[in-house]
Amino acid sequence: MSTLQHAGRVVLVSGAAGGIGSAIAEAYLAQGAAVGLVDFDAAAGERLAQRLADAGGRVAFAQADVGSYADCERACASVAGALGPVDTLVANAGISPKHAGKPAPVWRMDPAEWRRVVDVNLNGVFNLCRLLAPGMVERRFGRIVAMSSVAGKAYLDIVAAHYAATKAGLIGLTRHLAGELGPHGITVNALAPGRIDTPMVAGAPAAANAAVVDATPLRRLGTPHEVAHACAFLTSTGAGFITGQVIDVAGGWLMT
Ligand code: NAD
Repeated sequence: MSTLQHAGRVVLVSGAAGGIGSAIAEAYLAQGAAVGLVDFDAAAGERLAQRLADAGGRVAFAQADVGSYADCERACASVAGALGPVDTLVANAGISPKHAGKPAPVWRMDPAEWRRVVDVNLNGVFNLCRLLAPGMVERRFGRIVAMSSVAGKAYLDIVAAHYAATKAGLIGLTRHLAGELGPHGITVNALAPGRIDTPMVAGAPAAANAAVVDATPLRRLGTPHEVAHACAFLTSTGAGFITGQVIDVAGGWLMT
C-alpha cells in the first residue's frame, strides 16, 4: 500500500489541537494531504499549526466553536480558501465534562451543561457535514468520519448521559448520512474509540483508567496514533466500499 494514500486530498479535522485530533492531522500530513485544523482553543491550534508547518506540512488553522453554525461556516470557508475544496471531513471535536472526576447523574445535571455537550458533540458534527457535504456532492467524491465512542454503544458508569447520548446520536447520524450520500460517491463512517490516552482521560481518577485496562483484553489504554491510523484507513481509496460502519478502536474492551 502506498504511504501517500491521501496525496492531493484536503482534510478538515475538528478538535485538531487535542490528543486524538493532532495525531489524526499528523497521520494525514504523513500521507500527503493538506490539513485544515479547526479548534476552539486558538493558542493550542496556532501552536500546532506552526509546528506542523515547520515540519513541512501544508496546514491552515481556523478557530471555531463547532457548536456554532456561523463559526463553522467561517472556518470551512477559511480552510477552503487556504487549501482548496475540502474532500475529507474528520468531525472529531468533543467534550466530556466531569465534576471532581465523576460524571453527573441526569437527575442532578445542569441543563445548560446538557445543551452544551449536545451542541459540541452532536450539533457540531451536523454543522460541519451540512456545510461540507454540498461541495462533496457537487464533486461526486467525499469521505466523512465522525468520532463516536464505545460509550455510544454500551452503558458505562464512567461517562455521563449527555456524552453517551451524543455519541449514540452520532451513530444514527453516520448511518443516515451514509444512506443519503452514498449515491453521490461519499462514504460516511464512525470510529468508536475505547479508552485512549489523551488529555480528555488524563483528568480521570487513576482507578477509573485501571478498571478499564483490567477489562480490556489488550490490557492497556489505546494511543491517539492507533485511532488516527483507523481514521486514515476509513478515508483511504482502498476503503471506498466501506460506509455506514462504526469501527471500535478499543483493544477488545466491550466488543460492542
Ligand atoms: P481532547 O480533550 O484531548 O481534545 C479535544 C479537542 O477538541 C481539544 O483540542 C479542544 O480544544 C477541542 N474542542 C473542544 N470543544 C470544542 C468546540 N466547541 N469546538 C471546537 N473544538 C473544540 O480529547 P480527545 O481525547 O482527543 O478526544 C477527541 C474525540 O475523541 C472526542 O470527540 C472524544 O469524545 C472522542 N473520544 C475520546 C476517547 C478517549 O478516551 N480519549 C474515547 C472515545 C472517544
